[in-house]
Amino acid sequence: AHQIPHPEAAASAALSERAARVIPGGVNSPVRAYGSVGGTPRFLVSGSGPYVTDVDGNEYVDLVASWGPALLGHAHPAVVDAVQQTAARGLGFGASVPQEAELAEEIIARMPVVERVRLVSTGTEATMTAIRIARGATGRPLVIKFAGHYHGHSDGLLAEAGSGLATLAMPGSAGVTAETAAQTLVLPYNDLDALEAAFAEHGDRIAAVIAESAAANMGVLPPMPGFTEAMIRLAHAHGALVILDEVLTGFRAGPSGFWGIEQDRVAAGVTPDLLTFGKVVGGGLPLAALGGRAELMELLAPLGPVYQAGTLSGNPLAVAAGLTTLQHADAAAYARLSHAADVLTGAVTAALADAGVPHRVQRAGTLFSVLFGEFPDAPRGYAEVQGQNVAAHRAFFHAMLEQGVNLPPSAFEAWFVTAAHDDAALARVVDALPGAARAAAGA
Ligand code: PMP
Repeated sequence: AHQIPHPEAAASAALSERAARVIPGGVNSPVRAYGSVGGTPRFLVSGSGPYVTDVDGNEYVDLVASWGPALLGHAHPAVVDAVQQTAARGLGFGASVPQEAELAEEIIARMPVVERVRLVSTGTEATMTAIRIARGATGRPLVIKFAGHYHGHSDGLLAEAGSGLATLAMPGSAGVTAETAAQTLVLPYNDLDALEAAFAEHGDRIAAVIAESAAANMGVLPPMPGFTEAMIRLAHAHGALVILDEVLTGFRAGPSGFWGIEQDRVAAGVTPDLLTFGKVVGGGLPLAALGGRAELMELLAPLGPVYQAGTLSGNPLAVAAGLTTLQHADAAAYARLSHAADVLTGAVTAALADAGVPHRVQRAGTLFSVLFGEFPDAPRGYAEVQGQNVAAHRAFFHAMLEQGVNLPPSAFEAWFVTAAHDDAALARVVDALPGAARAAAGA
């Protein structure tokens, strides 16, 4: 039996105060601070399947899923068992372990466009390294990114970056030199004219275009029909590479990420050069990866001149968690994820419409998000989604939390379902929606 959470969160509040004395903002990643929704960030102590429990003993249906990694739900028995068995033999050796190649093989089997894989520890490292390879391969300095796309917190990729910067309404970060910022050209997403103009002006100096496969850090904004193909063709015509960032979408939007969905709409032979992965690929432990064509990936040391390394890269616990997660992410798991997304997108649309709350549900495979505001047409880029009704989101978020549903504390983040969201967990979310929609209507 699942208890209704107590609206108070006294122990979380006390821990929050304590943490704020020793950790900036009390958090080790900004969005966790509830900056745009206010209130007491919940300190979580355990998770099981679709549920998490906070330090006050409140239980929630979780739609954060560790911001994506928990594809199978929290504390999946096979994943926990693999990690425990691995841990008992040692936490890491700084030497290669047998399962690293197995994980690389699993990634390659799902994404044939990937011929070689290197494992790193965070998505930030994966995109940073992919860009270094692109510069190393082309000998060119500039990178194109799209406004609202988030690729981690390396210096060159923080301009108009979505995710926590969108939540906190920050255009970029202090501490990035003008010289570094000048090497990134930020363009509006889904705007082929802007991309053509940038290549016309700087074509021979552009090393790469980096894009989320489907944008999911400013709300979920999939590419407009034809955009990804045109982007790849244009970049290649100018001798630039394309990096598709699948850190969030990889092995989640579908079994082969969002590229697995998109590639069927793209002419054969039009493919990205490098891809980046994170989140699901580490099964909840710190692990990410990059991959691509062999001749590009083999520019990496020790074979080539592009340096990259990591004390904890390929850590056996993280590899065990990621490999076991992918091995269990079978057709039945993706069917369950799709079903959960269908049920929740249907129910949230109905609840918000009944309450008269302007909104738009956006979807890319099993990923979805809810935009609060008037969006008669599908938004194409960051400028259109920045004016969301944050007050309506805040009221909605807290009404859900009080009814035992843990949503991402930001109007710009996707809702993450897991394969463990069974009918009982989904029903709890569905039951909470009408009350939250009424709260949003009154905000
Ligand atoms: N790329 C994308 C698309 C992401 O969503 C994220 C994280 N949300 C990153 C890169 C950075 O990954 P990490 O937080 O592991 O550094």
